[in-house]
Amino acid sequence: MSAGIPLWRCRNCGSAFYPEPLLCPHCGGADGEPARVYEGLIEQATVVHRAVGAPAERPPRQLATVVLPGGQRVIAALDGRPERGGRVVLRESGGAILASRRRGVGPIE
Ligand SMILES: [Zn+2]
Repeated sequence: MSAGIPLWRCRNCGSAFYPEPLLCPHCGGADGEPARVYEGLIEQATVVHRAVGAPAERPPRQLATVVLPGGQRVIAALDGRPERGGRVVLRESGGAILASRRRGVGPIE
């Protein structure tokens, strides 16, 4: 598990994406550089009671749409009570994005 999630930032227009695209969806550029983002804001959340292929006894899981500092959106497993606009700390584990509630003020990083 590592802090933050990796982004691909287009060197031509500065747009950032997760996961890495083949070409920049914004300008078509192919030249990018790695970047990292550590926090975001909850936009929407939902509860998944039954997942395809998962055992029926598995407890419900929360998923959230998280808005990143550059305006991109990612879907993350949410740990904690969902609150629209709530700050979350992001990390990646096994190819999944995990979001944990974070208290505090100031801009997201
Ligand atoms: Zn671009």
